[in-house]
Amino acid sequence: MRVTLNGAACSVTGSAHLVESGGRRILLDCGLHQGRRSESDALNRSPGFDPSSIDLLILSHAHIDHSGLIPAVVRDGFRGPILCTAATRDLCALMLADSARIQESDADWLAREHPDSPPPVPLYTPADAARAMGSFHTVPYGRTVEPLPGFRVRLLDAGHILGSSQIELRDPDGATLLFSGDLGRPMPILRDPATGVSEPDAVLMEGTYGGKLHEPGEDSASGLADLVRRTARRGGRVLVPAFSVGRTQEILYTLRRLLGEGAIPGIPVFVDSPMAADATTIYRMHPECFDEEAMEIVYGGGSPFLFDGLRFTRTTAESRELNDLAGPSIVISASGMCEHGRILHHLKRTVVDPAGSVAIVGFMAEHTLGRALAEGARRIRIFGREYARQAEVAVFPGFSAHADTRGLEAWASALPGAEIVLVHGERDRLEALAGALRGTGREVRIPERGETLELAAGNRPGSAG
Ligand SMILES: [Zn+2]
Ligand SMILES: [Zn+2]
Repeated sequence: MRVTLNGAACSVTGSAHLVESGGRRILLDCGLHQGRRSESDALNRSPGFDPSSIDLLILSHAHIDHSGLIPAVVRDGFRGPILCTAATRDLCALMLADSARIQESDADWLAREHPDSPPPVPLYTPADAARAMGSFHTVPYGRTVEPLPGFRVRLLDAGHILGSSQIELRDPDGATLLFSGDLGRPMPILRDPATGVSEPDAVLMEGTYGGKLHEPGEDSASGLADLVRRTARRGGRVLVPAFSVGRTQEILYTLRRLLGEGAIPGIPVFVDSPMAADATTIYRMHPECFDEEAMEIVYGGGSPFLFDGLRFTRTTAESRELNDLAGPSIVISASGMCEHGRILHHLKRTVVDPAGSVAIVGFMAEHTLGRALAEGARRIRIFGREYARQAEVAVFPGFSAHADTRGLEAWASALPGAEIVLVHGERDRLEALAGALRGTGREVRIPERGETLELAAGNRPGSAG
């Protein structure tokens, strides 16, 4: 079995790993490279493989850095099936369409900025994204399928976002590769990542938070409750910038629980993002991904994401009406890093209000408005205008969809004997994780992008060929 790392090698975007065995070519993930425009655009337009040569694509989860190139490769000649869970397919229908709209508006923006250059072609269009959905084939967690003669595939819980999976791939020689996808951690709603149910010869493992520890989720939930109570007493609004898929649902679940416990007052809660409303519907459609606690709510006739006082606002008119709303409230909106979208309009109003507050519940990349807020900036630039911040800002680092280094190390320790290849992480994170794993006697490699590795053939004593 040969594996070529086409992306997410010493970086976190563009996850795409090409497996070659028995004359077949299988792609694990097909993600979009994100980051500096010119660099990522070049990588996205020449992904390092000929789409028509790929027999099978297996998708770990719907995040765009794992799925976002699918519309382009289907348009460019990939004719095989795309294997994933049903929840991942449904989230992809939403997220690939959204990504296509972003590709189009990016191209429009470039055309306006450079009127003398030939008009840029979007990476793909909404029509490409819609057409790609016809290639999806779904498989439940835990069931072994044979999508190509002699190749066995099994998807296992990854506990990261709805539908996320680890991918176990066994080739006709019996060599078994386990791809971690993105690993989550024990948190509400989803089942925890599966550990110790696979006996692979080699492991492709993510290391996003190698060497880092998260704050316990419970501390962040009670911190959020304190903030809501304080802000409500002041008569202000709690503004929560949140990714539409995953984080918004986790926050809704947490608020529902805090309300039930009487830890927060019953003030109006708004989810102001059409994408988040759609994603919440998809979450509700897939209880087969839920953990026991969430299932108890479903069996009791409720929904883990809905409660009295919650409203989803879709139209811009509804969104604007929120500005005139007096009294305490909670508004959850996107984008998660405050880079664009409706959250900016809400921020403009809330940051200047001494009664208001902003709850930071997600990762904020460098050079984003969200990062400036998280770092306590006193002056905030929105739509080119500067605002003096009066509102309270509180950071809750315990909301994370990724395993921290303790979770990663525990996951690896349940796979004794397998050689470990680290992907999906900045180099220093992967080095930190590699150091910890080598300390326990494991063989660990950190490949570069484009590198090809011979893997999983007879590494395990007693395995075939
Ligand atoms: Zn992910
Ligand atoms: Zn990822």
